[in-house]
Amino acid sequence: MELKSFFNDDLVLQGAEIGEAYAKDWSEALPQNPMAVLRPRTTEDVSAMLQKATELSQPIVTQGGRTGLAGGATPKQGEYALSTERLNHILDIDPIGKTITVQSGVTLQQIQEAAAEHDLLFPLDLGARGTATAGGITATNAGGNQVIQYGVTRQLILGLTAVLPDGQIMAQDNKLLKNNAGFDLKQLMIGTEGTLGVVTEITFRLFPRRDITKTAFCAAKDFASVAALLAYAGKYLPGLSSFEVLWRDYMEEILHVTGKPDLFDAPSPFYILLEVEAAEDTEHFEERLMAAVTDGVVDDVLLAVNETQRQTFWSYRDSIAELITDMATAINFDIGIPITKMADFTDAIGKELRETFPGVRLVTFGHIGDGNLHMSASTGRQDDCMKIEDLVFQRATDIGGTITAEHGIGVLKKHWLSACRTEVEITMMRRLKGLLDPANILNPGRII
Ligand SMILES: Cc1cc2nc3c(=O)[nH]c(=O)nc-3n(C[C@H](O)[C@H](O)[C@H](O)COP(=O)(O)OP(=O)(O)OC[C@H]3O[C@@H](n4cnc5c(N)ncnc54)[C@H](O)[C@@H]3O)c2cc1C
Repeated sequence: MELKSFFNDDLVLQGAEIGEAYAKDWSEALPQNPMAVLRPRTTEDVSAMLQKATELSQPIVTQGGRTGLAGGATPKQGEYALSTERLNHILDIDPIGKTITVQSGVTLQQIQEAAAEHDLLFPLDLGARGTATAGGITATNAGGNQVIQYGVTRQLILGLTAVLPDGQIMAQDNKLLKNNAGFDLKQLMIGTEGTLGVVTEITFRLFPRRDITKTAFCAAKDFASVAALLAYAGKYLPGLSSFEVLWRDYMEEILHVTGKPDLFDAPSPFYILLEVEAAEDTEHFEERLMAAVTDGVVDDVLLAVNETQRQTFWSYRDSIAELITDMATAINFDIGIPITKMADFTDAIGKELRETFPGVRLVTFGHIGDGNLHMSASTGRQDDCMKIEDLVFQRATDIGGTITAEHGIGVLKKHWLSACRTEVEITMMRRLKGLLDPANILNPGRII
């Protein structure tokens, strides 16, 4: 199709105009150049584009910041990419009602900064904050570092506008916290990875910004101590916003790859990075954590005395991108495991992987406060990736876990969907897809 004659010239890139960035997201999915790139500026542009695509049965993949880790934003052969890069305006911020309305291509960091200008907090946070977009976090129902206090993206969305595959605009301009008028249709667009519509505008909740952040890095001798600290922190550390756990295998690899110093005097099996947010400064945080050491809940505690030290602590957690790059051909997991079964699971799977794949590099870490376990494993051989994945997914789903707590199914985990969703659920997913997108033009082959 001669797209440029159909749409305004600058809304379309074709041929040599298409940069290589559009060929892939952050996942291991194989890069593929899209046939064309559509770059709408408004909801109405998106509507015209999808209407035309449906008429022509032209498949389209929606792209936000392309930081997705499930391959959902990587084009397939013959697809156009619809990039939200020009849907990049903050439309409204209401400091009294504590809401912000943005176009879907606005980055997570821009939302956080806009909120901060009004002394408010947008609490979703993840390592890809500078690039991940409002539409991407919505479509993947992203989690991140502060879920324990504020919930996942779904809990932060009040209203949204989405364009359905046939071009109809579904606008739910809701800014109310409570609104029970009929079906809550925005939920169809949250976490469905762009299969049912293109999200163009979103209204998020904002929260009072706490001026004081207290951060501690703790060491623990076993997982029972980690679980005890989580319970202790839930009770005695009000405002607990992060509870990140790093296994010793993760810490050893981070020290090796980044050359960072070991901050603790002696090695420990587990490290916990925890943070609370408070309205005013008190000594409680320090006192209670010291009491946790005295009571034997944890072995050692380092307290961040200033922002630089806080960032140093977080850099051990945030160096994961560097680590994954070093572990070329790593397979990365974001499984969910009930916390009561986590210790047995990680012990057993670590043993099985090391026995089955001698020399495997394995690191384990996660947002343990919300049952989300990340693991990365690499033997350096591409052939082993599928075998490792099958083993981990099988063991996780055997004990009631999920194959993805955060990143979604995309294309990479499709063949495992039936292990954590029932046949009835999958049939309903297919029916909804068929109903809203009968020509199957939007993100075809993702999830189902
Ligand atoms: C370093 C790093 C750290 C990360 N940490 C976390 C983490 O802690 N927690 C977590 O949950 N994820 C994490 N991720 C994964 C990723 O950042 C999130 O999935 C993010 O939400 C993707 O946003 P994006 O704009 O890059 O989306 P993309 O990668 O562009 O797209 C992701 C999916 O959403 C669809 N999509 C994008 N925009 C729209 C739209 N406007 N309408 C409809 N569908 C759309 C795409 O088609 C695709 O299926 C991390 C990724 C990296 C690289």
